[in-house]
Parts: sequence; structure tokens; C-alpha cells
Amino acid sequence: MRAVVMHAPGDVRVENIEKPAIVEPTDAIIRVTAACICGSDLWPYRGAEELNGPTPMGHEYVGVVEEIGEDVHDIAVGDFVVGSFVASDNSCEICRAGFQSRCIHQVMMGSVGTQSDFARIPLADGTLVKVHGEPTSAQLRSLLAASDVLGTGWFAAVAAEAGPGKTVAVVGDGAVGLLAILAAKRLGADRVIAMSRHADRQALAKRFGATDIVEERGDAGVARIRELTGGYGAHSTVEAVGTQESMMQAIHATRPGGHVGYVGVSHGVELDGLDLFFSTVSLLGGPAPVRRFLPELIDLIMTDQIDPGVVFDLELPIEEAAEGYRAMDERRAVKVLLSL
Ligand SMILES: [Zn+2]
Repeated sequence: MRAVVMHAPGDVRVENIEKPAIVEPTDAIIRVTAACICGSDLWPYRGAEELNGPTPMGHEYVGVVEEIGEDVHDIAVGDFVVGSFVASDNSCEICRAGFQSRCIHQVMMGSVGTQSDFARIPLADGTLVKVHGEPTSAQLRSLLAASDVLGTGWFAAVAAEAGPGKTVAVVGDGAVGLLAILAAKRLGADRVIAMSRHADRQALAKRFGATDIVEERGDAGVARIRELTGGYGAHSTVEAVGTQESMMQAIHATRPGGHVGYVGVSHGVELDGLDLFFSTVSLLGGPAPVRRFLPELIDLIMTDQIDPGVVFDLELPIEEAAEGYRAMDERRAVKVLLSL
């Protein structure tokens, strides 16, 4: 089968590798109908994360169940399914508390790879959610977004306690940041401030419900957020980048008593204890428990109440995956869909 394999930073190839087979009785094999490239795939692409030899890529997927292990009971062959980037049993105490991304039996899908014709999904009953009905092509794109970027943006907005009466600031204008705007709006936030300096992303931010745009970054960005909020800072701030600057921007843009939802994969972020102490904010983040939100997100998508799939601004056949990585790396594309 065809699969995207990263050999070294900047070196992405589409190769023929062996089709996955059931390993554990709780596994399912799905035929991937669409996959995509994630902002987090850019960390190894840029050499900011180590690769241990050639690595099959991808952790976002929608597809049709092709085969199930003998211990899979809730998912059947032929089901159209969505899963998240972490396989989880959805039954342990951590899962039941809503943090499936840290399930005690978690399997990171990035270690399996989903930018391929087929993918093995561990813990299929806990991981996969069946979609009822036949998705349109627009709904299919949105369901693919739900697999990671929408679910992650949604978690960030929930973790930041976005809701009625709140002003929400969003640091980061990648797909996750943009969809956190959609989530904040949907959760009832009064005002959503997008921090972005790119016209195309600002336009998407507004489409998703941003009421204000702040182009300044760092301390200047923080000062602008304060100015827009009567000197207080935002009630809720989403951090969707993962750098020192973005994390500090998020914490400092938040008013005392406010909440920061941080979902950018942390790279070299160090927090100063005394600065954190006096910030007086709640921090909740990490790998998003997308599975918690999937049933609700699938319902919103299949009833056309949200259209997160519009974040995909470039669609390429999987054979052209290398160009997809280049386009995202050079910020020519917000989010690339790979068709199979
Ligand atoms: Zn669990």
C-alpha cells in the first residue's frame, strides 16, 4: 500500500509498504478515505524533533472499517469511522474523566501512521466513533478536521473556559487556533480576539467568529489585548503554537483569575515560577482528549451546524505529499488534505 514516510528533515517520500494486519484482538484495520498533514508533523520536518530512521507519518484519519479483531464488538466491518490521534480504551478512570488522550493504555497514532491506504487502529471500540449516514464531500473534510485540529481547538477553548460573557484571545493562527475560534464562538463567547498577521488567516478567523484581530506579538500583543479589554486581559486564552513566546503571550494576555488552554506541542517552553505565581491564572492543556468531543462534533458536522473543513486550503493526491509538507512548511497552506 502507499504510505508517506519521512526519512530526514525535509525528506518526505511516498513508498510502497506492507499493508497493516490485526496484531491485537482489539485492533481494527481501516481503509483510509482521507488523511492530512498536521502542524505537528512540521516539527520533525524542520529538524526540531528527532527521527529514529524512516518513519511512517500521520495521525489524523477518517475511513471505512475493513477488518476487526475478535475482541471488537461496537465497530463493524463497513462502518464509516472517525478516530483521534491517540487510541484509547475509553473505559479506564482517566478516559471516564474525559482525558482519553492520556488513557492508561494509550497508543499514539503517530507511532502507527495514517497517511497511507490502510491503518491499524488499536483499541478500536474505544477509539473509533461511527458516523451515521453518508457524509457529503464537505462533511467528509469536516470529519477529517474533527480527528485532530477541530477536536484540539475545541478542547483548548473548553480548557480556557470559553463561554457566555467571556472574552477569548487565541494565540496562533494555524488550523488549531482558527478552529479554537470556531469552538469559542460555538461555546457562546461574547468576544473572540484572533492574534494573526496573515490576511488569509484573518479572513478565516473572522469567518469562524473572531470579532477582533490583533497583529502585534509578544509584549506588544499582550498590551493590545489589555487595551481591548479595559486593561484587564482576556478571561480565556488559547495557546496553539508551543513556543516560549506564544506561551508567555498567552499567560500574560490572561487576566488574574482567568484560564489558559494550551495545546501547542511544547518545544523549549520554560516557565518562570514567580512570573507564573503572580499571573494568577489556571493552566490546563496537553494532548487534546479529542475522543471526549467526537460524538458531539460529528453530530454538529453531520447536521451542517459547523464547517471546520474549510481550513483545508490545499488538497493533493497522496503521491504529492512532499509538496503538501513544503506548502505547510512555507505557510503557503493552512492545512493540507491528502486524498487516497
Ligand atoms: Zn483509558
